[in-house]
Amino acid sequence: MKTLFISPSYICNEKCVFCPCALNARRYTQLTLDELYDAVDKAIEKESIEMVLISGGEPTIYKGILDLVSYINRKGLKLGILSNSLKFSDPEFLKRFIAVAGNEFELTTAFHSFRENEHDRVTSVLGSFQKSLLGVNNLIQAGVKVTIKHIINNSTYQLLPEYVDWLYETFPDNVPWVLCNIDLTGTALTNKGDSSVPFSVSRPYLENTLDKVVEYQRNGRNRIVRIFNTPLCCIDPYYWSFLQKYESEEEMTALYLPYENPIDNKIRFNLKGDGGANFKPCQECIVQAQCPGTWKKTAEVLGEKSFIPFK
Ligand code: SF4
Ligand code: SF4
Repeated sequence: MKTLFISPSYICNEKCVFCPCALNARRYTQLTLDELYDAVDKAIEKESIEMVLISGGEPTIYKGILDLVSYINRKGLKLGILSNSLKFSDPEFLKRFIAVAGNEFELTTAFHSFRENEHDRVTSVLGSFQKSLLGVNNLIQAGVKVTIKHIINNSTYQLLPEYVDWLYETFPDNVPWVLCNIDLTGTALTNKGDSSVPFSVSRPYLENTLDKVVEYQRNGRNRIVRIFNTPLCCIDPYYWSFLQKYESEEEMTALYLPYENPIDNKIRFNLKGDGGANFKPCQECIVQAQCPGTWKKTAEVLGEKSFIPFK
């Protein structure tokens, strides 16, 4: 789907160990509502976009969020939000949001662990696990299409098989689960001891987790489970049907972000993304066209020897 990606600002009400944004980006001048409206109009005019995906930082704490969402809605565009859902724990905020956005939007929230204290350690906000859980449950009850995300990382990869049980117990089956390998950039790169785990190390835990998903499915549970940023050579072919390419990681229709120097703040079109299977070993691999690959920065840190071509 042709999508405009927007970050109105990098300000956030959490401080995650694995944040792909650099901490100093929080000081960049925020984009104004007029600048954002103009970007939406330009993206419609030039690329006939169908969707706007808002991230950050945390988009719900941007002062003009309700006006922005209302504008996107009035233009007839689909809306996606990447949010930690803390603000949606407030029923009044949720009510005001739905009044301007309807409940047809898609929202993705990451839970870093099923253990409350570990999630709170990652976000650096005490009580964030309970508050995000309340927010997500409020959204689900309001009929919003929520997706739960988990970023595979060095602190919690061994607990993945237990995470899956928590997920199935906690959220209804119509809530998809996405597992992503980490983008080692920004704060995640600064904290790479906590965040970076080689594919070969997390692989048995990921495969064990997917075995449990298959078991749940055999027992009649029917949840969409997808894995992103995981190359085909880093997991047994038995599990390949779970892997998915996130097209915008290879190519983005339109992108509008704040930069350190506001003079650089302009909408960009048809950009190469930060993901894919374009590493040296991939050039001689027979499944390159089907392979989701992974983040460029992650490959730089883990080394291209992580990828073994199929010949
Ligand atoms: S990962 Fe998301 S929620 Fe966490 S600090 Fe970064 S922007 Fe905020
Ligand atoms: S070598 Fe490259 S293209 Fe082949 S499976 Fe691995 S990452 Fe994918």
